[in-house]
Amino acid sequence: MATEEPVVRPLARIIPAMNTSDGAGVRLRRSLGSNERTRLDPFLMLDEFSSVNPGDYIAGFPSHPHRGFETVTYILDGHMRHEDHLGNQGDLKSGGVQWMTAGRGIIHSEMPQQLEGRMRGFQLWINLPAREKMKPAGYRDIPPEEIPVHALSGGGRVKVIAGRLDADGVLIDGPIAGLSTEPLYLDVELPPGAAFAQATPRGHNAMVYVFEGRLRPAGSNDLLATHSAAILADGDLASFTAGAEGARFLLLAGRPIGEPIVQYGPFVMNTVAEIERAILDYQTGRLTAA
Ligand code: FE
Repeated sequence: MATEEPVVRPLARIIPAMNTSDGAGVRLRRSLGSNERTRLDPFLMLDEFSSVNPGDYIAGFPSHPHRGFETVTYILDGHMRHEDHLGNQGDLKSGGVQWMTAGRGIIHSEMPQQLEGRMRGFQLWINLPAREKMKPAGYRDIPPEEIPVHALSGGGRVKVIAGRLDADGVLIDGPIAGLSTEPLYLDVELPPGAAFAQATPRGHNAMVYVFEGRLRPAGSNDLLATHSAAILADGDLASFTAGAEGARFLLLAGRPIGEPIVQYGPFVMNTVAEIERAILDYQTGRLTAA
């Protein structure tokens, strides 16, 4: 049987990040999730926060609820403390990740700890399928030393946060695996003009978010600007070339859930009735009850 050439995923759509604020006034850039037409199933939202001015971040995200999805917080620079209603605490330091499954409910705070210097990182929201929305809450704090780093043969490097790096002739599994949405979460840094191609299963959705330099998706004339997201069409490979200043970007992919989404702030369910139930449960102290 003839082997077919892998199909490189073409650029489908660019989503510039919008300046906004959330929590108690944390300034951030929101690309995915700035409205309901900028989601990419199973991804609901992607925020980048980056500031050297504590006034932009120090108020943090005081106690707030979530139900029905997962949040992934990746700190590039800074120090964030997490506390939840169960008394759990976690410290997120530079290069660390917290993977939180809100499931039926969590009430937590996410508060920057440093008083000066740069605070920089991302929060990604990943949806859960209907059958998993009401599972017990849980999370994993992943310190930087548990995140594999692969030095690319053409220069640059990849950090494998979730899923499997399948690029540059290597297969490397990240610490997060076994989820039904099969998320791939890579942090890729490329020197000027370097190329990178990662295998991505057909039918999974894939996107990039450029946060340093500029990046050209293979086959495209568009050079993605810093702080922009781009959705890729279907194919076997997500392939890119860094611009003249190099590039650093997140590459995200996952299996789409294909269910209706009803979101009300920090609650993401399938129906309006389930959202009303979440609000009532929160108001009556039953959000997180087993
Ligand atoms: Fe939160």
